[in-house]
Amino acid sequence: MSSIADELICYAECVNKSDLLPLISFLVVASLLLFAFYLKSKTPIQRVSSFAGAQLLMIGAIVASFSTMECSRMLTIEMYLAYVFISTGIMLFLPGSYYKILIRHHNAKPISEIVDWVDDFVNTLSEDSNVYYFDSAIPKAFASGKAIFVSIGMLELFDEQELKAVLAHEAWHLRHNNKTPILRQLSLMTFTKFRPEQELELMADRFAEKIVSKGALESARAKLI
Ligand SMILES: [Zn+2]
Repeated sequence: MSSIADELICYAECVNKSDLLPLISFLVVASLLLFAFYLKSKTPIQRVSSFAGAQLLMIGAIVASFSTMECSRMLTIEMYLAYVFISTGIMLFLPGSYYKILIRHHNAKPISEIVDWVDDFVNTLSEDSNVYYFDSAIPKAFASGKAIFVSIGMLELFDEQELKAVLAHEAWHLRHNNKTPILRQLSLMTFTKFRPEQELELMADRFAEKIVSKGALESARAKLI
């Protein structure tokens, strides 16, 4: 029975001797960079593609390492298992708690501090949800996990019916978030300019039209920069 330390030494020797060392180093570094980029990125497309890219590069590094193993293969298998557990943990844990990171990132505050009807309205559409506002002159709203974020700019520019249309749109996303694939859950669902190819956006809009009105939704969209 060899100890973990023996395996580590053996592993380091195998990788060190191998012609694949530069490739493995490159893959690990590139994967970590992409993961750092993923944590910093702001748009859903950047987030999803950088996370998927980081995963693929790491799998490449593991496959390359595995092919260099001449002594014990145990450690690589253990590393691979650890990697699977950690990445699965991130994928399961992050969608549900990502909004907490967003609250800190945007320095967001509960909307009940400044507008009293919003939380009640949203909770009739999606239970146990919270609405936050953040300091930005640009009118925008997005949803993540169990939270909806609305900018000050939107609160100032939109009348109550338009705001309700936006909130209903985002509440639809909250209701359907856990039914979407995990990678999509990681992305933020925003109230953006109309893009007909986005089926989920269309469905969220239809819901908002039904809850509030088509006119309110249209005038809300017209106010987006
Ligand atoms: Zn949307």
